[in-house]
Amino acid sequence: MTHTNYPIADIVNELSVPKYVTIVSHRNPDGDAIGSSLAMYHMLSKFGHTVRVIWPSEYPAVFEWMPGIKDCTIYDVHTDLAKTYIEMADVIVALDFNSLERIDKMGKIIHEEDKKTIMIDHHIDPEPMAEIMMSDTAASSTCELVYKLFQGANWLKHMTVDIGECLYTGLITDTGSFRHATNPDVYKIAGALKEIGIDDYKIHDQVFDNMTEKQVRLLGHCLANRMEILPEFKTGIIALTKNDYLKFNIQRGDTEGIVNYILKIPGIRVAAFITEQPKLVKLSLRSKGDISVQQIASEYFNGGGHFNASGGHMYKPLNTVVSIFKNILPNHIK
Ligand code: 5GP
Ligand code: MN
Repeated sequence: MTHTNYPIADIVNELSVPKYVTIVSHRNPDGDAIGSSLAMYHMLSKFGHTVRVIWPSEYPAVFEWMPGIKDCTIYDVHTDLAKTYIEMADVIVALDFNSLERIDKMGKIIHEEDKKTIMIDHHIDPEPMAEIMMSDTAASSTCELVYKLFQGANWLKHMTVDIGECLYTGLITDTGSFRHATNPDVYKIAGALKEIGIDDYKIHDQVFDNMTEKQVRLLGHCLANRMEILPEFKTGIIALTKNDYLKFNIQRGDTEGIVNYILKIPGIRVAAFITEQPKLVKLSLRSKGDISVQQIASEYFNGGGHFNASGGHMYKPLNTVVSIFKNILPNHIK
């Protein structure tokens, strides 16, 4: 497996005596954020550290089964507790994000308290937000990097099925079940995890075949009534209004993955899922091939992410954001 200049020795050194370790990941945590946080949580707990996990906002229900998830603290829900956990930390372990802006007010606290931080991440253009940065955009997922940390640190002997299932969840969610962002190591790691006895069938079923009736109907609504195809720009857009949110009682996680349906149409290279949230408009962007939605998200929509999967937001009305998005297409799609 490739270990390109990873600061594994520095991480091991920083964690060589029991400490108060607070693990943080990004708002709207996904399978990779949750899986990497929980895998680290279980592993570091074995070494006598006091370990806390905090995410800024709630996690989707499809991850409810994950071992240890009930021990995690949501900043939006238990703000004072979360603040205490950050303040008490000797070390912050920041997983699956590369700019403190991605963790809202928690980032401000970490910055102001000048906390020693270890970052492990795979997004483009990392900010210098940590003393120790294990950042690799060639990695499929943060879970891949956490596995490589365990391997490089000689911690694999402490692996359990629980930890393996957490890591596998990040591998499959960030690669869309091994369909994109893969590399040879992804399959080697998946094989090694299967070897130790993870229930991969269960995980796929829980994560991908686990929609409520409401979610399936909402998917139908998006595709039948809210999708616009712009063949000249090889682009499809789905825009959801505040009214849609009310009518379908849309909760966090209900819209997960809908953007990918647009890319099922042959010839479509760019997909945008644009939603009117209470305070802002959020964009989820996906692309195929050599069109960088990361560039689009960072240039126009205060966001970023990966070359073919990115997101952003804007404090403007929904219609305005959709217009802005359409207007920039000629510059990016030839
Ligand atoms: P999603 O569309 O699933 O919310 O996000 C896709 C990718 O874009 C993820 O890798 C995520 O980290 C990134 N992303 C989503 N929203 C934002 C944002 O507001 N800012 C940045 N920098 N990245 C984002
Ligand atoms: Mn990730």
